[in-house]
Amino acid sequence: MVRHPGAPDPARRRSQPVRVRQDLDDVLRGLDGAPYGQYKRLTGLWQLDGGGLLRLVRGQADPFAPPARLAVRLAPETAALPAELLTTADRRRAVAAHLAATAARAAGDGPLRVDGGGQEVLDRSSCVVDPDGAVTLRMGAPLPGRGRRIDGPAARRLLCDQLPALLARLTGPALDPDELRRHAACVEDSVALRAMLEELGLVAFVADGAVLPRRSGVSDRPASGPEVVPFASPPELRTTVRLPHAGEVSGMGVPEGVTLVVGGGFHGKSTLLRALESGIWDHVPGDGRELVVARADTVKVRAEDGRRVARVDVHAFVDNLPTGADTTDFSTDNASGSTSQAASLCEAVETGARVLLIDEDTAATNLMIRDARMQALVAADREPLTPFVDLVGSLHRDHGVSTVLVMGGSGDYMEVADRVLLMDAYRPADVTTRARRLVADVPTGRTTEADRFPAVTHRVPVPDSLDPAVRGRPKVRARGADTLSYGEDDIDLRAVAQLADSRQVAGVGLALQELLRGGHLDGHRTLAEALDRLEEHDGLTTATLLAVRDEDFAVPRRHEVAAALNRLRSLRIAAPPA
Ligand code: ADP
Ligand code: MG
Repeated sequence: MVRHPGAPDPARRRSQPVRVRQDLDDVLRGLDGAPYGQYKRLTGLWQLDGGGLLRLVRGQADPFAPPARLAVRLAPETAALPAELLTTADRRRAVAAHLAATAARAAGDGPLRVDGGGQEVLDRSSCVVDPDGAVTLRMGAPLPGRGRRIDGPAARRLLCDQLPALLARLTGPALDPDELRRHAACVEDSVALRAMLEELGLVAFVADGAVLPRRSGVSDRPASGPEVVPFASPPELRTTVRLPHAGEVSGMGVPEGVTLVVGGGFHGKSTLLRALESGIWDHVPGDGRELVVARADTVKVRAEDGRRVARVDVHAFVDNLPTGADTTDFSTDNASGSTSQAASLCEAVETGARVLLIDEDTAATNLMIRDARMQALVAADREPLTPFVDLVGSLHRDHGVSTVLVMGGSGDYMEVADRVLLMDAYRPADVTTRARRLVADVPTGRTTEADRFPAVTHRVPVPDSLDPAVRGRPKVRARGADTLSYGEDDIDLRAVAQLADSRQVAGVGLALQELLRGGHLDGHRTLAEALDRLEEHDGLTTATLLAVRDEDFAVPRRHEVAAALNRLRSLRIAAPPA
């Protein structure tokens, strides 16, 4: 395989001499006032005070260019992590996340820029803990300049004082081993809980006492105060599990099948659904959602008018368009609310989602429901859409895909729901029996419009169409949590709700490149096969994505990688075999 430019060359690294702290001091002293480009003399390995080994991964061309990139490796003896926290990947991820957050806090508003992560415990490039206990911390650092000349004293402060001071916060007496154990236990419990779901026939679990609401629309931290109502499971759905650390825990098990969440406006329906969306990730202690988990293959789907759709078979939902377009092979540069949601639903199933989450707040009404009066007024052959209400049951029966759906505005779903949950002042009640009675007593008069969700059609992406090169160089950059600049395109990710943060958007950018680089997308494999292969070859790990490019990122799921690919405007799909 061709090595990507910028990827570390292991052979070269091993042969590099390690220079001592005094050398770094001397070099920086000597560089004072030199042209900025001379910073390249920092290339190599430098032993820092306190035991870190510094490497300049990528320099900075001029004072206005993006910051230089540093990696510091702490040897196992220096990091001195408790041995039992190194034995599993989950424990190491929890420890690394805590170290990254600690480092980010220590860096504060200073020049060193460490990605500390948020409420989710993700694999991040900013801190990696190896099985042998070595810790690698990666960060950005703007190299100090006076105009276009090197500011030697400032550079010495940065690399010989501030950096070692930051590392001191991650080692020795500064680290509380019990705190580390708490983080590891928290992750281990939610991983264990998620792993139990399938055997229990559940798609999600919400522990009693969990705090679901967030502080505000712009803060992912837990809401606090007397008005917060902790979660309490309805007796009918109460499930008790035994976890490795927390012991016996009770909560609401959301069963497989079709679950309908109803209730008045502002009663906490969307908040519950958002907690399930985020339940694919583990959370830090104190988050409130530590024991709120959803199956790893849960995908939130919403309407998103304006998105592009590339050759998706949406005929289950859309047929007889006024344009006469073939909806088994449907493309558009500007989808409507309903067709965008139809495409996203089909793509999610294509990528392997086994649980779908839909909220009425963000769904296209005409794709969700059509009542008896509307059926009477608009003849079926004049209405291209088959509403989801007529397909959701078959999705589960025939394809094993469950749905959790928030719908407070229409009773039509009671007919097809296996469970009905009523949110009342933030407390869920199981009203399935009452809903069944209503279904018998108050018929909707609807005619069912479909009896079966058809088999998914897999698509084969054309590799060239994913090439992000602009004038020979890959141009890929996360712009906040909502946009990925990819080649000449900006991929709009606002509707991809389960992306944790902007660093995970960066991770998606790297994973898309790795699909090509690793030969996973080869013009013959379907998208789902290419994603399988990426995962089998450890492509969705920090190490592989770092080899694409050393930057701050969090490892994404296959579902978000696919969601980005599906929204790439340059994407082309090979013609289906005749
Ligand atoms: P719905 O979707 O039913 O209209 P939301 O989920 O949007 O309601 O919640 C409405 C408001 O109530 C939000 O401001 C949310 O933060 C708050 N909220 C949700 N759950 C709780 C809770 N358990 N305790 C206190 N406030 C909550
Ligand atoms: Mg809502």
